[in-house]
Amino acid sequence: MKKKYISQQKSTKGNHAVVIGGSMAGLLAGRVLTNHFERVTIIERDRFPEHPQYRPGVPQSNHVHVLLCKGKQILEQLFPGLLGELETAGALKIDWTAEFPWYNLFGWEPRFHSELKSYLCSRHLLEWMVRHKLATYDNLQFLEKTQVTGLLSQVSNTVTGVRLKSNSQIQDLTADLVVDASGRNSSLPKWLTAFGYQSPEETVINSFLGYSSRWYQVPEGLQTDWKALAVAPKPPSDTRGGVIYSVENNCWVTTLWGVNKDYPPTDETGFLEFARSIRNPIIYKFIQEAQPISPVYVYRRTENRLRHYEKLSRLPDGIVAVGDAVCSFNPVYGQGMTVGALGAIALDECLQNYPSLKGLTKGFQKKLAQVTTIPWLMATGEDLRWQGTEGSKPDWMTRLMQQYLDQVVMLSVERPEIYQKYVEVVQLNHPPKILFHPDLMAKILGQIIKNYQKFEPKHQEQTIPKLLC
Ligand SMILES: Cc1cc2nc3c(=O)[nH]c(=O)nc-3n(C[C@H](O)[C@H](O)[C@H](O)COP(=O)(O)OP(=O)(O)OC[C@H]3O[C@@H](n4cnc5c(N)ncnc54)[C@H](O)[C@@H]3O)c2cc1C
Repeated sequence: MKKKYISQQKSTKGNHAVVIGGSMAGLLAGRVLTNHFERVTIIERDRFPEHPQYRPGVPQSNHVHVLLCKGKQILEQLFPGLLGELETAGALKIDWTAEFPWYNLFGWEPRFHSELKSYLCSRHLLEWMVRHKLATYDNLQFLEKTQVTGLLSQVSNTVTGVRLKSNSQIQDLTADLVVDASGRNSSLPKWLTAFGYQSPEETVINSFLGYSSRWYQVPEGLQTDWKALAVAPKPPSDTRGGVIYSVENNCWVTTLWGVNKDYPPTDETGFLEFARSIRNPIIYKFIQEAQPISPVYVYRRTENRLRHYEKLSRLPDGIVAVGDAVCSFNPVYGQGMTVGALGAIALDECLQNYPSLKGLTKGFQKKLAQVTTIPWLMATGEDLRWQGTEGSKPDWMTRLMQQYLDQVVMLSVERPEIYQKYVEVVQLNHPPKILFHPDLMAKILGQIIKNYQKFEPKHQEQTIPKLLC
């Protein structure tokens, strides 16, 4: 990969930082490390494709990948100009409250213009673009087709580098800091145990949700005033949902999902039939006319998994873990890349606070645990609505929250200002506490009393609501 010099960053820490994994969390961590280290090396098992394309290390890239507003904001902060370049490459700017009709728990949400904007594109394009922006940093290099097989520890209680395997050759690479961004299947717990440390406790909450996705050419001449649309499942019994998502090159990615092991089929006929069976068949109506341009892709490993590094009493210095390696989510909430971006910002802040790197590991993992708390509670709180979810049962607080949020969503169908707040939370722009502001609570309680038993959505089920001025 060719690089040219643009970085004016000054290193303040040790010499060399190494990142294990060149997917989104690794790339974003790599970007902030260029602010603090003389050299940064991102090690990736795959060969990176020259064009925005599939690669085996990121099988999820064949499925819809939503870039939340918060994630968009951090990407632009880390890579000024990235969004403009994405748009030039074909990404579509979306106003989430205007151009994303959403058939939610109680019918269609209202449509109106807001500043809740981000970009739609394939995951292939987004990762490719971020990688190319990063490749322009003079103090960063990629080692492709190279697998990290273990950690080095030549100083007690400190990780001092990584062991690499490339073309059957084994090699050691020393580093002042190693960042594990190797995803959900991270070997870090195993590597820690090999050095005599405990592996972190894990919390796993699994609603057994499965994805099937297919790519389509948008039918010629089709004019729509939306860029994505979704139908949500409705607990406890409507387990099926789906989304149509516009991406570059005039294509749609359509992802269908089913909860509680109600997995969408992998064959063409079954895929369409599943789409038709969703409680609102609007997705079926659009895709049945469209030309498929891919097979049906499947993804099933969707459990929420949290590794509690922050709770370990002993951790070596010289290593931190980020992204899915620490906290991976049920992907249906679209949070993974944005939480990876929030983690990169947290790493940047911690590197400023730990000038010698001593104590960074613990300090960072504690901070990251704070960053992931809200997205984790949002994802697992929703997943715990389903009877078949394993790993935990909703306590009284979770049930109360679920019921309160039901009321918020019910009212949001009629009240754009409430819907806007709800979307701000979903997009991780604001914490859920904005839905508990006393003014809003009073409104909601008043409406609950008025509407409780007799709520009926205004919008006809199969007609997308019109955009309000
Ligand atoms: C089906 C699905 C849909 C998703 N949809 C969304 C969405 O809509 N929005 C969103 O924000 N997020 C979504 N996500 C989550 C998102 O893909 C991840 O959160 C994001 O990629 C960040 O993950 P990561 O970089 O930590 O790990 P990963 O993306 O898993 O990448 C890990 C990388 O490490 C490499 N690697 C692994 N082990 C080694 C090793 N030993 N040596 C060298 N390299 C190694 C792998 O090849 C890979 O490149 C989805 C996830 C799934 C599964």
